[in-house]
Amino acid sequence: MPTETTAMTRVLRTREELRAALADAPRPVGLVTTMGWLHDGHRELMRTARAENATTVATIFVNPRQFNEASDYTKYPRNEAHDLEICHSEGVDLVFAPGVEEIYPDGFDTTVSVGAVAQPLEGAARPGHFDGVATVVAILFGLVGADRAYFGQKDAQQVMVIRQMARDLAIGTEVVTCPTVREPDGLALSSRNVHLSPSERAAATVLRRALIAARTAWADGERSAEAIRATMRDVLATEPLANVEYVSVADGRTLVELDAIDGPALASMAVRFGSTRLIDNESLGDLPGTLPGRQVYGG
Ligand code: AMP
Repeated sequence: MPTETTAMTRVLRTREELRAALADAPRPVGLVTTMGWLHDGHRELMRTARAENATTVATIFVNPRQFNEASDYTKYPRNEAHDLEICHSEGVDLVFAPGVEEIYPDGFDTTVSVGAVAQPLEGAARPGHFDGVATVVAILFGLVGADRAYFGQKDAQQVMVIRQMARDLAIGTEVVTCPTVREPDGLALSSRNVHLSPSERAAATVLRRALIAARTAWADGERSAEAIRATMRDVLATEPLANVEYVSVADGRTLVELDAIDGPALASMAVRFGSTRLIDNESLGDLPGTLPGRQVYGG
């Protein structure tokens, strides 16, 4: 397949084309991995990558292995033409947008499985999800050989899993966490938000309200994790359309559920609105590896 070009943004479809394009790309190289349907959260990662690197690479690949529900994969929103416009407008130099067989060719038979940090929360709720994430990110890290890769705090456990994977497999790509980008009313941007009905979209602001309540309690000195979980559950209970899957206050390094908060912690939750599953989180204290000082409180 020929290499496509949109002004300065080159679109690569195969590993071969990507390797060739990277051979003479100025370093350092910054990488943003995405599943497309790009929004301002992805844009923020691209901007940060661009500010810190000589070459910015974005990948667009809806990774079938990280979906634990087949319907979630098939209905995942896709619009490549629009995504490429966004990459172009953010000054991304190279976009790798491969087909499934390019990432998982015939005979592919390896799974990257991260240990303890991948087990609770999203790992428990979505069996196989993090194996799929770690496997595809290991492949993309291997192909791109980036100096830095940028991930969103929105998926806090994902970035911890990837950091663990990169460290253990001696991958020389620095994993950088960027702040969550939100709608003005506080809802974290997510490609899945497009599936919310108008009433579900209005109801979904309860996630942010629950996290602000958690953050406020913590800032006021509450150190009982269960008291903070109860605060979040109380706020979520005010919204009839919210079906809570889990509410967590966990150690910010290990994601083990806490009794007493005695260091950096992560308040997080997964909540369904109809068939749409949303996650969000808030750090209680500074989490390692996170760009400081740009969290938005109160939307
Ligand atoms: P996705 O396309 O959903 O796989 O996300 C690709 C990257 O964008 C991941 O590192 C996500 O954490 C990040 N991301 C998604 N939503 C947001 C957001 N609202 N703010 C910041 N980063 C985000």
